[in-house]
Amino acid sequence: MKCCLAIDIGGTKIASALITGNIIEQRQQIKTPQDEAAIGMSQALAQIVQQHQGMFDSVAVASTGIINRGVLTALNPKNLGGLAEFPLAKSIAEHTDAPIGLLNDVQAAAYAEYQLLTDKVDNFVFITVSTGVGGGIILNGKLQTGPNGIAGHIGHTLADPNGPICGCGRQGCVEAIAAGRAIEAAAAQWDDPCEPAEVFARFRQGVPQAVELVQRSAKAIANMIADLVIANDIQRVALGGSVGLAEGYLPLVRHYLQQLPHFYHTDVVAAACGQDAGLLGAALWWRHELDGNEI
Ligand SMILES: [Zn+2]
Repeated sequence: MKCCLAIDIGGTKIASALITGNIIEQRQQIKTPQDEAAIGMSQALAQIVQQHQGMFDSVAVASTGIINRGVLTALNPKNLGGLAEFPLAKSIAEHTDAPIGLLNDVQAAAYAEYQLLTDKVDNFVFITVSTGVGGGIILNGKLQTGPNGIAGHIGHTLADPNGPICGCGRQGCVEAIAAGRAIEAAAAQWDDPCEPAEVFARFRQGVPQAVELVQRSAKAIANMIADLVIANDIQRVALGGSVGLAEGYLPLVRHYLQQLPHFYHTDVVAAACGQDAGLLGAALWWRHELDGNEI
């Protein structure tokens, strides 16, 4: 059985595991280097690859940011600190001859969620509403990454042309209104300020200010889903992330979507993969890509 070394690079942690089929083994997690980040990342990747030498025949990486031809970048490269323009593929290739596949972490999670569907659809979107808003798009059964790795960055579509300035530099992105960071910023301005978790507790208690803030987020996500449905004939959406899976949020998104004309409607379900979606999705996607090229 073929075995993949999967690596998931996040802003705060790097997870790795050996993946055979759907089975995740030897899962490990270390902190993402912050000081001298590029040197630290090179060393961390070298250690992960060398530690598993001889045990894998491919390497799949899911990473935060945008993977453009093997190089790590982002819509706002400042978010990556010392890792902006880090040559991920080259850095790993110094330690192995195995083929290396790289994806954005949300694209990877989308692929994992799609593989978990018991009744397959052709067109599927995974949306994570967490600190930011991200997505991964499957069309005709194929994960969309795009020539520059940008496909699926749906959190940066427009929600309100008069809205707040987004981290990407555009005004009024969905992320600037719906994301956990946006909820946190708004709640910090209240007379009785609070953290996002408390916003959701107050929302469930019916406190008007919190209800309004969560409704605004859910409505922006519902409208973004409607845009995706009408543009791509999306048949199912899986919603994940700490905000997306917060109690009471998904029903609200469905409610706003239902208020639109019927051709904007689609199934919206809760994401099922959890924290290993990036690792698993990257491995499954890369195995599929490699097998496709063998034929
Ligand atoms: Zn944006």
